[in-house]
Amino acid sequence: MHRTLAAAFILTAAAPALAQPPAAPQVRVERVAPGVAVLFGRGGNIALSHGADGNVLIDDQYAPMTEPILAAVRSIDPDPVRFVINTHWHGDHTGGNENLARTGTVVVAHENVRTRMSMDQVVRGEAVPPSPTGALPVITFGQGLSFHLNGDEVRVFHVDHAHTDGDVLVFWHRANVLHMGDTYFNGMLPFIDLDSGGSIDGLLSALLIAIGRADAETVIIPGHGPLARQSDLIAYRDRLLAIRDRVQAEIDAGRSLEQIQALRLADAYGRDSDFISPSAFIATVHRSLTTEPPHHDGPEDGED
Ligand SMILES: [Zn+2]
Repeated sequence: MHRTLAAAFILTAAAPALAQPPAAPQVRVERVAPGVAVLFGRGGNIALSHGADGNVLIDDQYAPMTEPILAAVRSIDPDPVRFVINTHWHGDHTGGNENLARTGTVVVAHENVRTRMSMDQVVRGEAVPPSPTGALPVITFGQGLSFHLNGDEVRVFHVDHAHTDGDVLVFWHRANVLHMGDTYFNGMLPFIDLDSGGSIDGLLSALLIAIGRADAETVIIPGHGPLARQSDLIAYRDRLLAIRDRVQAEIDAGRSLEQIQALRLADAYGRDSDFISPSAFIATVHRSLTTEPPHHDGPEDGED
């Protein structure tokens, strides 16, 4: 049952055309620092950099959300959106790209985001067709880049094979804000998209990089869930690392996936009705640890 629900959810998440919100979608704005706000709607959490040099969005949820998102942006700053940075390719973070591009917004993402959006994909067993050309990032990069806007340096840097193979973290140096994309699901077990090049060890590495980049004052924006602090991120990583190490130990001891799932190692951190249930998470960790590690084809992981 929970597997069916999870599959239905990710189909929705990855295929915005099939996912029309039933009622007028709402966007809630939270200002987190001078020049930085977070927009909570449907799909991945959005960050907005605003100020004298114009608006920059981090992620853009689903296509039907574009109007309410732009209305929320206008409530903060009436200027157009100059850039949108996609934290990864999933449709609940890139579904607004085509609408925004039509208004003149430049879409920026890691090169693997453009590659995956250009081709047929499979997410949790569900086929996802290529995105329209107008939705694709027009500026791509390998390791990272910086936006020098609105009195801040907004540093975008790639973390390898974490939630997918195209993830970035986005850090505002002056405002001290860190957007994690889907390398962080706050308050729930994470989805690790192994079929898109994600891995448990890459995710743990990304969390460690983020913890090192942050300090006790940093406002941390997860891909999903409420805002967090460095201490939350440390606790989250500790939890996932403990589960990962225990699953590895049980694999080494010759236990099957079913035997390991019966230990219910992740039950304290989720419910069967969650997007990623505890047993689904254990299955993902098991598969990640028992399949060939993803190919690393560039300089070492990410940070600058
Ligand atoms: Zn995602």
